[in-house]
Amino acid sequence: MIDDNELDDLDHDEVEGEEDGRDDDEAADTEAMVMCPYCWASVEITLDPGSGNAQEYVEDCEVCCQPWQLNVHYDEDGRADVVVTALDEA
Ligand SMILES: [Zn+2]
Repeated sequence: MIDDNELDDLDHDEVEGEEDGRDDDEAADTEAMVMCPYCWASVEITLDPGSGNAQEYVEDCEVCCQPWQLNVHYDEDGRADVVVTALDEA
């Protein structure tokens, strides 16, 4: 009885750790933290890896509603490099 319980615990821990690791390695970033160039708030934005490795679009700050120029680049590991600039300064 005691042996069975110990085995169950070990199995559970191993599977959880493995899944976390895989998620980081294989999935492209779908979220990024950016700092608003207008109000300096840290805002989490949602990214769309399916739209290509280099993306450029305009999105409004959800805090102050000013328009951002967003430049998103994915590297080969699926990591997103996000650059935010103020649209009216471009
Ligand atoms: Zn803002």
